[in-house]
Amino acid sequence: MADKNSKQPENAPGKWYVDTTCVPCHSCVDEAPNLLKYSDAEDYVYFDRQPENPEEEKAAQFALQACPTEAIGDDGD
Ligand code: SF4
Repeated sequence: MADKNSKQPENAPGKWYVDTTCVPCHSCVDEAPNLLKYSDAEDYVYFDRQPENPEEEKAAQFALQACPTEAIGDDGD
């Protein structure tokens, strides 16, 4: 389960986030390419922006389910 106390700092404010257990493996970016971005060093991903409609919410949910390290959470602030 993702830890909202260990969010990557670049996450856009909101309930969706990536924590520091991201590998990265790219799976979530395939599911939500409009929401998730790689860090400059490409060593993790983060939510560049929060979902803004039901389709994007669904994409974020798919990204969460695709993550092998459970680095994606939807219980952020
Ligand atoms: S699926 Fe998980 S481990 Fe893979 S890049 Fe996304 S957040 Fe990181």
